[in-house]
Order: sequence, then structure tokens, then C-alpha cells
Amino acid sequence: MNIILVILSALVSAFSRAPAQADIPPNEYPQGILNQIVTEHLEENVSNKEKKVLFIGYDGYRRDCLPVISSNENGAVSRISSIGSLLMTYAGGTKDNPQQTGTAVGWSTILTGLSSEESGVWNNKSVKRDSAVTFLTRAAKNGFSCAFISSYPSHFDKTLVRDIRKARRDSLSVEYIRTSNDEESRAVAISLLEEGTADVVFVIFEYTDAAGHSYGFSSDEKAYTEACRKADTAGAELVDVCLKTDSDAIDRLIVITTDHGGIGRRHGGQSNAERETWAAISHKLELENKLS
Ligand SMILES: [Zn+2]
Repeated sequence: MNIILVILSALVSAFSRAPAQADIPPNEYPQGILNQIVTEHLEENVSNKEKKVLFIGYDGYRRDCLPVISSNENGAVSRISSIGSLLMTYAGGTKDNPQQTGTAVGWSTILTGLSSEESGVWNNKSVKRDSAVTFLTRAAKNGFSCAFISSYPSHFDKTLVRDIRKARRDSLSVEYIRTSNDEESRAVAISLLEEGTADVVFVIFEYTDAAGHSYGFSSDEKAYTEACRKADTAGAELVDVCLKTDSDAIDRLIVITTDHGGIGRRHGGQSNAERETWAAISHKLELENKLS
């Protein structure tokens, strides 16, 4: 119920910022809504259980390539969607207030719930403003231990550089772990989940974005569809650890999403192929009929 209310209020606020929304298809949600879903999960206190989050990013995973992995019952996205919800989301802001369908912009909007204008993150070279607080920083301030894992250098050198310094300076419990590749990201995430030392694990895999830039973001491109499967196999391993080891005392939210789509060998623009994103969420949101 709380999550539904949060989403309704997020939509009201998104719509009130940009009144002319005829460009946005019905039943699609701004990607920033994920910030509120995670925050609500961590702050909700009714269940009296220990709150945890596993947040998995498949960077640059086109929405129309979901069928590549949806037939795999053991895949991460199909399992999480079947126990919870599959949400159609979008990147790139609104038509009235567009922003780049880029990596730093997309993940920043997801982490903060804010637009480029609000966060100062316009591209991969931007440094996020301190006033744009991520759900990792917020969770750490509320006593949760968090880990951010990625091999993409700009997160560490640019976008989140002030957050990283601030976490160190203020002894905040957010670890920013820069890996050298997806295999290492996967191994680090698995060991954190097995140890149970991080309450919120945020990991991004680059398989799909890397294949898209090299060969093309397309369901017709074998290297890209293979990368889709690779990402979902890695995701499934993380999901497995949680499903096997979480006790009844733990209430874990699992989210799998992407930051943007792609067209040809690039992204950043406002085409549907670049804007259309998605999110698998391990909670029933029951949104479809409520907002049309
Ligand atoms: Zn990206």
C-alpha cells in the first residue's frame, strides 16, 4: 500500500513539474521513481523485519530486448518479475524538460530521483551536487551499510566523486568499490551478499552497454543478445544468493533495471529506443490499472 501511495505521489509531483505530458505513454513511469521505491522500502517499519536491498543495473539494456531473457525461468528478470512487478520506465526526462539518455544521468536520476537540472548531472563528465542526495547516502545516514560496485570509471572520477570524499570524511557507511570488469563486480557483490555485511548492495554490469557500443544496440545483433543473457546470468547468481541465504527475519527488496536504451551504436538522444527502460521489482506494485 505504501509503495503504491509513494508512486502515485511521485507521479503527481513529476506531472506537476511538467504539465504537458501527452508525449509520455500511459503506464510508464519516470526512472527516478526507483529512488522512492527503495527509500520507502528502507524506511517502512510495519513489518519489523531487517530491511535489505539488492539493486542490479544492466547498463544500456534496451526494453525491446527483454524477450531475449524472459523465456529463461531461472533468469533474474523473469524470476523477480514473477514474484513482483515488471515496470515500464523511461529515461531522458520529459519532452518539456529533456535530459541525456546517458549513463551518469540515468543512474543519477535513479539514485536521487532528480532531473539533470536538479542534480547538476548533465553528462558523464558532470560532478553531482551535494544537494542531490542518493538513496545510498540517505540509507547510510539512517544506519544502513551500503556498497556501490561498478567498473565504469566516471562514477568514481566524476559523478560521485564528492559523495566518495564525503563518505570518507564523515565515516559514512557507503563503500564505493571500483572494479576492473564485470566478473570482478559480480564476485564482489556475491561475497558481500554471502557475508551479509552490506544492507544495500548496488551493482552495475556493463555487458550490454559495452556490446551495444561495439556491435549495435539491437535484438538482431548476436553479440548484443549474448550480452543480454550474460547480464541476466550474473544477475541470477546474485538473486540466488539472496533467495537461498535470507532468513525470515529479512525483508529484502530486489530491483533490476537499466539506465537507458540505445540506437545503432550509441545513446544519449530522445528516440524511443534510447528512452524506453524497464524495472523488475520484487514487490507487487499493482500499478497498471490504477493510473490509466
Ligand atoms: Zn549506460
